[in-house]
Amino acid sequence: MKSDSIYEQTAGQAPADYTARIVPDSSVTVGQHGTWDIVIIVGVQGIALGGGVRIAPPHREKQRWDVGNVVAATSVPGTSVHVRVENGHPLSYHHSQYPVIYAVLEGKPLKAGDTLTVTLGHPGSYISGFRQPAQAQDIISVDTFFEVGVDIEGNTDYSNPDYPVRGGGRHFPLQQQPAIDVIPAAPAALGIVVPQFEAGEGPAQVFVHARDAFGNVCESFQGTLKLETVGDSDGTLETEADATTGDRGLANARIDVPARNGVFLVRARDEASGIIGKSWPVAPYFRPSGYNIYWGDMHNHTNLSGDGVRDIDDAYWYARHISGLDFVAITDHEGSKDWERSQACAKAYNAPGEFTAFLAYEYSWAGAYGHRNVYYLDDDMPCPTPDDANDLWDQLPPGRALVIPHHPNTHSEGGTTFGRWQPTDWSVHHPEFQRHVEICQLRGSFEVEEVGAPVILGGNGSSARSALAKGLRLGFVGGTDNHRGHPGSRMDTMGGISFRLRPVGGITAVLASECTRESLWEALLARRTYATTCEHILLDFSVNGACMGSAIAAEAEYTIRVAALGTNDVARIDVIRDGEEVHSLAVNDAACEHEWSDRPAEQPAYYYARVIQKDGNAAWASPIWIESK
Ligand SMILES: [Zn+2]
Ligand SMILES: [Zn+2]
Repeated sequence: MKSDSIYEQTAGQAPADYTARIVPDSSVTVGQHGTWDIVIIVGVQGIALGGGVRIAPPHREKQRWDVGNVVAATSVPGTSVHVRVENGHPLSYHHSQYPVIYAVLEGKPLKAGDTLTVTLGHPGSYISGFRQPAQAQDIISVDTFFEVGVDIEGNTDYSNPDYPVRGGGRHFPLQQQPAIDVIPAAPAALGIVVPQFEAGEGPAQVFVHARDAFGNVCESFQGTLKLETVGDSDGTLETEADATTGDRGLANARIDVPARNGVFLVRARDEASGIIGKSWPVAPYFRPSGYNIYWGDMHNHTNLSGDGVRDIDDAYWYARHISGLDFVAITDHEGSKDWERSQACAKAYNAPGEFTAFLAYEYSWAGAYGHRNVYYLDDDMPCPTPDDANDLWDQLPPGRALVIPHHPNTHSEGGTTFGRWQPTDWSVHHPEFQRHVEICQLRGSFEVEEVGAPVILGGNGSSARSALAKGLRLGFVGGTDNHRGHPGSRMDTMGGISFRLRPVGGITAVLASECTRESLWEALLARRTYATTCEHILLDFSVNGACMGSAIAAEAEYTIRVAALGTNDVARIDVIRDGEEVHSLAVNDAACEHEWSDRPAEQPAYYYARVIQKDGNAAWASPIWIESK
């Protein structure tokens, strides 16, 4: 290994006269197939034999390019370039999978002004024999850069069959990286956001947006949309409205909602393009235990996290206008790039009565304890990160902070940004702060130990049910853990897996009186929550008339009532008592309501209810505990 002295003046970067461009550099649409050249122009110190370049396509922020067929050449006759493409980690739920290209110079060294061109998605020839185009990532982003590093001196030991070590070697990044804009594809569907509970009186505000086949919002979409409400029962008022797109491609209109009991949804159609969409079902009569239902995502990331993409301002916009959430907690990782900004945004976007923002962060202990999110009722709170998870409680304000373990029953399967992380250690507990468990998110659901839809990760002893079995009183919440700054969206590559493979997600329904921090917080403290796989499934669950999340006195007999209105047909409803499914009802309809009478031989600790739709989506109502006498 030679000395790295020439890099000392440039703080580990390549000298400024080594540059690169991408050809063509015009913007590409998401998922576009094509051929791109990365052209590296050599600086005055040349590139020695055995030197070369390392190219990492955009990968850091849950982006993923397929590099296709890769070839490389130089501008100098008599040289050749050996190309090797590393594919990184095997496809996994937890690791980014992205290719890294190494191009190593053979034959002759390069001098100043020479070029080395690496072609992604080379069209192929009778030599390479096949066509495998490169493919742009499926998420829009501006100035998406390819990370190019240059090995000027030929320092990498290429004779070693294990060369080069990912992240190691002697490649130094160019000071200016070649970049390209990735823009949305054509609008493929309309998304419609309707408030759930504006019952009876007056018109309700509806938001409509267009999205492409990859779920990206088409912010330059223009059109006049026809909206109509479609009801299914008597008394439903059918209305129509026009909505014209405005700021950021968003259209909004006020529509009349049903005056009486009924279920309706809103359909929208763009006459010009023919694209259509429909909302989730709205049922003004559906008020679990007399409360309104407020929807929120309690777990997601922006580019304030090292592994997230998109600005936090965008994330709030998306949460409210695209996902139609009533509240959100942006949980960027501890050591967020700008905690003051997280604080300022939670304050700025909180609009009492309309939209609620909670200040929050994720604390991801490496090596132990599992991950936990911390939520605050107040603004301007700190972001404590004690080494020992048991010390966290002392640094939080009682009654005004909540701690929620997430993805409790899975682990990192090896090294990640945060080192090897573990399933939730439930011995780290404080009953005042730790009142919930994230039962589902993009990685899967963590209800039980056994793996089987909709539970796709388990067997680690830390499932929600295992925690309940330890006597912990935990309500159920869902959060996406979306890393694209898209709260409420299940579309995320999450470690390289395409969103098209994502089977689940997570949002939280909170039963409260109004959309304010205080009202939602009171409901969270009372565990009046249920979780769904990102679907607006309406769910009511009571035992002896008591609301989900409560604790009731022991009786000889329990009346268990479950009512649900699905976003698809409900396949079944299950009632779980102390970890066992004691009642189950096969349903074949979107709406269902049922009552059971239960006379357990011994006093149980808790009941909870679960709804599973035919399409695999699910909802879990927080338990109701029985106080022992
Ligand atoms: Zn985490
Ligand atoms: Zn997270």
